[in-house]
Amino acid sequence: MRDIELYQKLLGFTAPWRVTAVAVQEASGDTPLGEITVRVGWPPDVPLHCPECEAVVPGYDTRPRRWRHLNTMQWKTFIEADVPRVNCLKCGVKQVPVAWAEDGSRFTELFEAYAIQVLQAVRSKVQAQWLTALSWDQVDRVMGHAAHNVERAVTRGVARRSLEGLRYAGLDEKSFGKGHDYVSVLHDLEGRRVLEVVPERTREAANTLWAAIPEPQRQAIDAVAMDMWVPYLEATRVAAPQALIVHDKFHCAKELNKAVDLVRRREHRELQAQGEKTLTKTRYLWLKNPLNWTDRQRERFQAIKVDALNVGRAWAIKEAFSDFWDYRYTGSANKFFDRWYFWATHSRLAPIIAAAKTLKRHLPGLLAYTKHRITNAAAEGMNAQIQLLKANARGYRNFTQYRIAILFHCGKLDLYPAGRPS
Ligand SMILES: [Zn+2]
Repeated sequence: MRDIELYQKLLGFTAPWRVTAVAVQEASGDTPLGEITVRVGWPPDVPLHCPECEAVVPGYDTRPRRWRHLNTMQWKTFIEADVPRVNCLKCGVKQVPVAWAEDGSRFTELFEAYAIQVLQAVRSKVQAQWLTALSWDQVDRVMGHAAHNVERAVTRGVARRSLEGLRYAGLDEKSFGKGHDYVSVLHDLEGRRVLEVVPERTREAANTLWAAIPEPQRQAIDAVAMDMWVPYLEATRVAAPQALIVHDKFHCAKELNKAVDLVRRREHRELQAQGEKTLTKTRYLWLKNPLNWTDRQRERFQAIKVDALNVGRAWAIKEAFSDFWDYRYTGSANKFFDRWYFWATHSRLAPIIAAAKTLKRHLPGLLAYTKHRITNAAAEGMNAQIQLLKANARGYRNFTQYRIAILFHCGKLDLYPAGRPS
């Protein structure tokens, strides 16, 4: 078998494209791998069709094109062709599409798919180097090629994505970059995928998130998990008015923890002023779930006269509230809340009273948990992944790249070019 026939078979391009020549360039300083260039051509006796109206039309001219393809052994491999343009009386001058690459791409679809797989499988250069046994420079080259295509891949994936059957969504904030920059993330809680990411956590941001979901699917959503952030709440009431808003129980716990901590800090200061060290280094004791206490923390707790301390009372009120989430009937949950609320608001502990009032203001969203037992914790696995992306990238220099990376890794998108073999 000659080289041309071999490559004709290996490439598997559809007729009438034919391999016309194979050129080998030995490795040198510039090309440490060596390069193979496969020339393919459209036989002159095969008629040309207009890509738009499909009429048989005369050729106009050709355009030289070059694509990176999968390696042959360790040899970098390129496809070259003079791609014909046709002159259609109806449609004008048009380039004939090639079967192996998307319009305007400098990579064949197979190479693009490979690059995407490498990038999806590895999240750091160290991993990529280890997996591929390539040098740093070579990894850079592969990742660089892939990076060009990631954005195209994500755009393609989002356009193809099906949102049929989306029942439970989650609206969540993530920190981004240094300081207090935030992004807002919309999750599909059952599908465990990220649907969209936008900068900030404003009303506007939430509107933009919702706009990513076509209206019919948006209006088929049963419930949305979120914290008690008012801009999220308002945007959701407009975008998906039928959806029940379910306040995330972890965010409610955070609210109460914050109140307990305020009580502790104030009391600690007062005790210290009298020379008492009762509350020194107890911060995490009051915030941690007692089930997760260490033996030392448990001993410490037993040594403290909890009932005599303000922080002890605040802690008891916070701990008691966790029973709220066990109720399955809205009526019983409501009764429990009333009793708890009376206790909390008569505690004479200002931070606890304030937190209780916040919860009361959002009571419908708390009670909704009896109907739809959703929280953004389902998105926690993804959040961990997003954190990892942030840590590894150390420079998503701008938000756009960060968004692309999140959707690429956490969007469960079909990223591959259309022509890939199944
Ligand atoms: Zn035409």
